[in-house]
Amino acid sequence: MHLGLPTSPEGFSMPRGIHPRKRVSPEERFWVKVNKTHTCWFWTGGGGRYGAFRIDTELTKVPHRFAYELLIGPIPEGLVLDHLCHNTRCVNPKHLQPITQAENNKRANSVAKTMIHCKRGHPYTLFNTYFKDGRRHCRLCRAERQRRYSQEALARTLSLIGS
Ligand SMILES: [Zn+2]
Ligand SMILES: [Zn+2]
Repeated sequence: MHLGLPTSPEGFSMPRGIHPRKRVSPEERFWVKVNKTHTCWFWTGGGGRYGAFRIDTELTKVPHRFAYELLIGPIPEGLVLDHLCHNTRCVNPKHLQPITQAENNKRANSVAKTMIHCKRGHPYTLFNTYFKDGRRHCRLCRAERQRRYSQEALARTLSLIGS
């Protein structure tokens, strides 16, 4: 007799370990799409701001929640996972903290204030920070940008003189 996969009712997921051997498990497919750096583990698969991971035809999960459940355990009912690193596509459970939605909203509003460095790792100290359009910017990054521009301008000038 041929034993096909059970046609599962909605919400039913097969217990781990009893997948037919030939199939690649969701876990395996998941980790292939994660780029682990020494800090954040970035989801490189599809989806929007947080990404999306299809477990089967009926079940799609947010990657960071999936990773947390795999490595830590079930997320307590009603709680959301806050990204302590502020990278919405990071799935490193060490960077995730289960909190209430209310707390999450409160934190989201103060993200700009709690960030301690820019995306390139320069500290947001008083002297390294300027504000533009209501947001915080990094002076070191700006200086580097300006240096790059002026180097390019110099190179252009030199090439004109040389020709
Ligand atoms: Zn992270
Ligand atoms: Zn910077």
